[in-house]
Amino acid sequence: LLQLWAPLQFLGFFYRELRQSLVDMEAMFDIMSTESKIPDGAVELPESAGGAELELDDVSFAYGNGRDVLKGVSLKLKPGESVGIVGPSGSGKSTLLRLILRVYDVTSGKVKLDGHDVRELTLSSLRDSVAVIPQDTVLFNDTLEHNIRYGRPTASEEQVAMAATRARLDKTIEQMPNGRQTMVGERGVKLSGGEKQRVAIARAFLREPRMLVADEATSALDTATEQGILESLEDVARGRTAVFVAHRLSTVRSCDRIIVMEQGKIVEEGTHAELLDGRSRGSKIGMYAAMWKAQAQEEEENNQKPDDLVL
Ligand code: ATP
Repeated sequence: LLQLWAPLQFLGFFYRELRQSLVDMEAMFDIMSTESKIPDGAVELPESAGGAELELDDVSFAYGNGRDVLKGVSLKLKPGESVGIVGPSGSGKSTLLRLILRVYDVTSGKVKLDGHDVRELTLSSLRDSVAVIPQDTVLFNDTLEHNIRYGRPTASEEQVAMAATRARLDKTIEQMPNGRQTMVGERGVKLSGGEKQRVAIARAFLREPRMLVADEATSALDTATEQGILESLEDVARGRTAVFVAHRLSTVRSCDRIIVMEQGKIVEEGTHAELLDGRSRGSKIGMYAAMWKAQAQEEEENNQKPDDLVL
């Protein structure tokens, strides 16, 4: 029974991560049944200190109702490179993350890690290699220490403390009645959205994955919190291959590359600077620049104090 317990606990963790990050609560049952249909591969993705090479080769995907939500997406990331994915709601950003994690398998084309089709890899080695920073981190009714340690149950106290510091949770911890031993979650101290995200980042620091996948929450954080989280995310992504799905364009500004998606296709691609000054590539040059302008304007309006508003 004990032998079964560990993998079950791991699976439970993985489902929770997925539930938090990449799917609607309502879609959970779908995922569970899809999950069981995903056949395991035989190749172990080697554990190594460096980032993994990620390639999407002409990937198309439909959820089963026939309509392709991804259409011929190709993308190659060198080990350690980061990519930001932006685009309108429903353009397929989260779906792309789900295919990398093999929540679903491609309809056609290939997703490859270090040259291996992900379908050939063991699910455990694939998921051990990737840390997910979900949209909304659900905390267990347990201590903060336990919640962070979930990233790597065998981690020492020092390693947990170090991960908390690197995720910049140390100030939060200082203010708690029992430090890291404080109960959090529904029945304990409630953490803010930003603090919960930091718990996910601390878990990722502990896991030292080869790849990082982050799905940004749509809910707004205040500018200072957002900036702090962004810095922690950049820290944890350093040296790893990273895919950031973002709604706020400032999140992906410093990524090595940014892709803009629309209706399941990559329509524009480049660095932030290239995208802003028309040196980008793709069928919709200028789309990112327009989105950037619109967001800047929106922020300016939101930052206006009531007194400043002309009625
Ligand atoms: P957002 O920015 O709103 O998170 P997105 O770009 O991440 O959107 P996806 O969530 O990947 O978009 O969705 C792409 C398309 O696939 C949408 O039309 C969506 O309705 C559809 N879709 C997403 N999940 C499922 C599902 N489980 N079953 C069927 N269709 C789905």
